[in-house]
Amino acid sequence: MDGAIAERAAARPPSVPDLQAPRLIRVDPRDNVAIVANDGGLPAGTRLADGLELRDRVPQGHKVALDDIPAEGEIRRYNEIIGHAAGPIRAGEWVEESRIAMPAAPPLDALDVEHAAALPPVPLEGCTFEGYRNPDGSVGTKNVLAISTSVQCVAGTVEFALKRIRAELLPRYPNVDGVVALTHSYGCGVAIEAPGAAIPIRTLRNIALNPNFGGEVLVVSLGCEKLSPLRLLGRDPGDDVVTMQDEAFDGFGAIVAGAEARLEILNRRRRETCPVSDLVVGLQCGGSDAFSGVTANPALGFASDLLVRAGATVLFSEVTEVRDAIHLLTRRAADREVARALIREMAWYDAYLARGEADRSANTTPGNKKGGLANIVEKSLGSIAKSGTSPIVDVLAPGERVRRKGLVFAATPASDFICGTLQLASGMTLQVFTTGRGTPYGLAAAPVIKVATRSELARRWRDLIDFDAGGIATGHASIEETGWALFRLILDVASGRTEVWSDRWGIANDLALFNPGPVT
Ligand code: CA
Repeated sequence: MDGAIAERAAARPPSVPDLQAPRLIRVDPRDNVAIVANDGGLPAGTRLADGLELRDRVPQGHKVALDDIPAEGEIRRYNEIIGHAAGPIRAGEWVEESRIAMPAAPPLDALDVEHAAALPPVPLEGCTFEGYRNPDGSVGTKNVLAISTSVQCVAGTVEFALKRIRAELLPRYPNVDGVVALTHSYGCGVAIEAPGAAIPIRTLRNIALNPNFGGEVLVVSLGCEKLSPLRLLGRDPGDDVVTMQDEAFDGFGAIVAGAEARLEILNRRRRETCPVSDLVVGLQCGGSDAFSGVTANPALGFASDLLVRAGATVLFSEVTEVRDAIHLLTRRAADREVARALIREMAWYDAYLARGEADRSANTTPGNKKGGLANIVEKSLGSIAKSGTSPIVDVLAPGERVRRKGLVFAATPASDFICGTLQLASGMTLQVFTTGRGTPYGLAAAPVIKVATRSELARRWRDLIDFDAGGIATGHASIEETGWALFRLILDVASGRTEVWSDRWGIANDLALFNPGPVT
């Protein structure tokens, strides 16, 4: 998608947009459907500036046929086929979900990988932020003590110790932003040698190394679990572990003491000026609607391109939301190896879904459909807009750590919590999360900038949404202006100058591991 928005109803862009005038948004001039932009939708009989008259009432975000479309004719949005007409559709009619037959996913064996050679972007010099540099060279955006756990059995105990640490210790270490428990439901009662176990194990290992935790590792273990601290960390845990079944363990004090030793070190961390190339920004969406792909995601794509040009690492994810647009992504692979790796991750997920007797159509939610997204094809085309136009330089399997700077596809499920957890494992230190329907999602380990696709949502959720991209739909702002503003906000949040709402209120979702392996 080229990001151009054709406003069909407006003869020329007015300086002060008339929000009452009927407005359709067509993403690409070759599209034969457009979405209704007006809050509350438009009634049947509405006449648009170019003479088209609506034959049905069309809800906000839903599609209107711009031309007559014959039965089985192509329905185009983003200049891509989002489906075929289930029966004849007349111009001005509401093209609701049941009128669109979903096409098959692009076959993976027909993609051209031999010519993958996307050009590097034009550098953007001199952009900096204030971050916490770690001994290994990585840079955090927060200063947080993380307490890892090797098994769910200790989770309640660690949460209790956390209350004491917060009450008794944290006030004495004012440079530390907080303490989090990396609790989860894994560690025992699982087939730990099964191939699928590699994913949750490396996720837990790599999360402990997230740059926001300053290189300080503390594991609380029970002692009899399958996921031993040795297996969890991939090294001798030495003094980095407290084992509850050990004879030496004599109560919560051992956990609190372990925390205090690390708080002493973390409290000495100070922000310093770092190049933007030290940032690792994750992108995600959740509760998407038809505006996601015309406002928030293209603006985020523009900001993502700026970050990449400034040398940052940007992760985009959510396999089931890129699967139907994979033919657009393999074209952007920096080389053949990257293109093959993209296809490998798609094929892995196709097989994973098939084992569970599901397919990619299981992705769309009732809320997505109410918001105007007919199927996963349409959702995917809007979703990949947030990856901008940069070349894709690397592909990570779920939970792997970043290896290269630039735009990276980090393969994850689309589930908000699992995607967030896996991106943290990959080393993400700040996430930008776009939402159309609205979700109060947050992470304890990294700031999450929540971007609304519609101004109406941003107004209602004024103390949950950090950034309003809705002005793109109303004609108040361009994708470029909005993308620059978002880029600046990303640097402000990474520097601790601006606090996101979820951090202000302490709203955070649980970590959720991706475990494709068997449970015993
Ligand atoms: Ca998601």
